[in-house]
Amino acid sequence: MKTPPIVLKFGGTSVGDAAAIARAARIVVSTENPVVVLSAAAGVTDRLVTLARRAARGRDAEIVEELVERHVALARELGVDPAEIAEPLAELRDCARGIALLVEDSPHARDRLLACGELLMAPLFAAYLRTLGHPAVGCSSAKLGLLTDDRHGRARPQPECFERLAASMAEQKLGCGEAIAVITGFIGTTADGRITTLGRGGSDYSASLVARAIGARELQIWTDVDGIHTADPRLVPDAPRIDHLTFREASELAFSGAKVLHPQTLTPAMEHGIPVAVRDTRHPELPGTSITAELPAGAVASRVRAIAHRTGVRVLTVLSPRMLARHGFLSRIAAEFDRHSLSIDMISTSEVSISLTPDDPDADLGPIIADLEGFAEVQVVEGRAMVSVVGDRLDRDGSVVAEVLAGVAALGAPVQMISYGATRTNLAFLVPEDRVVDVVRALHQLFFAPATP
Ligand code: ASP
Ligand code: MG
Repeated sequence: MKTPPIVLKFGGTSVGDAAAIARAARIVVSTENPVVVLSAAAGVTDRLVTLARRAARGRDAEIVEELVERHVALARELGVDPAEIAEPLAELRDCARGIALLVEDSPHARDRLLACGELLMAPLFAAYLRTLGHPAVGCSSAKLGLLTDDRHGRARPQPECFERLAASMAEQKLGCGEAIAVITGFIGTTADGRITTLGRGGSDYSASLVARAIGARELQIWTDVDGIHTADPRLVPDAPRIDHLTFREASELAFSGAKVLHPQTLTPAMEHGIPVAVRDTRHPELPGTSITAELPAGAVASRVRAIAHRTGVRVLTVLSPRMLARHGFLSRIAAEFDRHSLSIDMISTSEVSISLTPDDPDADLGPIIADLEGFAEVQVVEGRAMVSVVGDRLDRDGSVVAEVLAGVAALGAPVQMISYGATRTNLAFLVPEDRVVDVVRALHQLFFAPATP
């Protein structure tokens, strides 16, 4: 039997220009039995978002032509006949024109347009691999059966997607060591064949879904950083790279704002115990960060493994002294969040109030506030940041909460909504957004500064 495939996912900057594509292709062809999942070229999805907005006002030509030219030039530079991408180029023109003609940016039309970046890149990359002498097929993940629900723009994969993906790949003899499958990230399909997208940055998630569907032996996320760091290097420039993380630690980090991985990415891989590696396309010789169920034997892990943060957090406080002690109050609030399709990040309660943070920083809270006000008083506080201190063995000696809070108190930064989950992998709390840089730096110093001899 052939060794199971490795799924390699390349992000936008890793396929951003001809040189980057050539680098990515070298990594692919030096891998045994690779299956490739790709993002759109860097910046393309952003342009498509702008295009959708403008097209809905009837103006479309400029950005369409810019994107057509960019991809045709890319093809030529790679020695690929632009005819190889004629179909997605036509799709791009048609979608933009369709939106402009109807002067309507419906969620489905928008997803079809946003999908064009990935639909262009996969066949382009596959054609380039063929010019290098490697059989390769560009595939749309929608056509391969990545089934989702119909929440356009943030679609959720359906459980049947695994079987469908596996069956259609087997049928086309992909992932079995023959032609290299080059699959679009980001894109899915509803049961009735409408294109959906998995949310911005969703190609990581697609790659994990594909890895799980085909029982990959590893999922490699190739990106423009050398792995996951102990804090965001933009805030803490000398934060070291972490060699190994457990699935629990890495998913806490991803959900807590670490930008390297799309939050949902690890779940499918984790469910099947597929090891994940975050690797640097410019430095393929480096090991990156490896993520597995357990740390490798002999690895010494500090209590705190990393500090993540996320800005733009809003707190909704629901007050009802009369109602709170009564049964059913919490479920009534939860039901409102459910009805408005909002997920909750953190909750904290007191005798007279419940505070919650919706996890989507861009969601319009107007409608849910209006409904909650039907039975309680609601206050909204904006401009908070969530800081998460993460580590599987955080609580080894029971002192970490005290140390973290003392560290923040020393800065005079007010702390709100402390949450220390049952799994004890993540201690999270809110601070005012304008204090987050200080707080992250101070905590990093506290837990990671080399001990002075
Ligand atoms: N191209 C999509 C985006 O920019 C998906 C991805 O890159 O993961 O959001
Ligand atoms: Mg990404």
